[in-house]
Amino acid sequence: KTQPGWVAVEDFLTTTVVHPDTALVQAVRSAVDAGMPPIEVTPNAGKLLKLLVQLSGARRVLEIGTLAGFSTIWMAQGLPDGGRLVTCEYLAKHADIARANVEAAGLADKVEVRVGAALDTLAALQSEGQEPFDFVFIDADKENDAAYLEWAVRLGRPGTVVVLDNAVWEGAVLDPSIDQVNAPGIISALELMGQHPQLDGTVIQTVGSKGWDGFALARVR
Ligand code: SAM
Repeated sequence: KTQPGWVAVEDFLTTTVVHPDTALVQAVRSAVDAGMPPIEVTPNAGKLLKLLVQLSGARRVLEIGTLAGFSTIWMAQGLPDGGRLVTCEYLAKHADIARANVEAAGLADKVEVRVGAALDTLAALQSEGQEPFDFVFIDADKENDAAYLEWAVRLGRPGTVVVLDNAVWEGAVLDPSIDQVNAPGIISALELMGQHPQLDGTVIQTVGSKGWDGFALARVR
């Protein structure tokens, strides 16, 4: 089977425009070496996250779903001095690899990887009375996407930017039988985003090396 044109174009755009640094390239390689699933964001999406962090002036970023820290490093690279990123990861093995990659990227002073079910970590962040997060990236177990959106509102403030990955999922949002595990959670989250009084959102569809997908972008009112 020949490679679809948009995969070759993605490679071209990554080399020509996006320029992931060696720490980012190494983070992806470490995930492959450790036998982790290749489910990190694409380099062009990672760069978009970094730019959104910078454009929104975010100083405090919350990530749900770390894997090997690829998107973590992109976003942390967009933080100013004194900025902070907390990322939630269920699997200790993933968290260990992510910490090593963050350290290698020179970002250990900005990034905290918290191990555990994200719903527990998010509740802990609330009870610790942490300052509001300015930017939230949701990319973990899709069943909990709607709950994560609610948490983004709760732990955010008016103006907080929320990005929810995998919002189209090969079109499964219209045909949940394609993926009965993940599609219902994504659909619930999109419905919630569309009707939540404190969220104002949109969804951009994408194609590339990760297939046909998209991301939702919202602002907390
Ligand atoms: N954001 C990462 C990137 O682009 O580089 C990719 C994250 S990957 C799609 C999803 C991650 O979420 C996996 O590492 C998985 O172990 C983690 N995860 C799954 N369920 C979780 C949960 N309930 N709480 C926290 N993390 C979870």
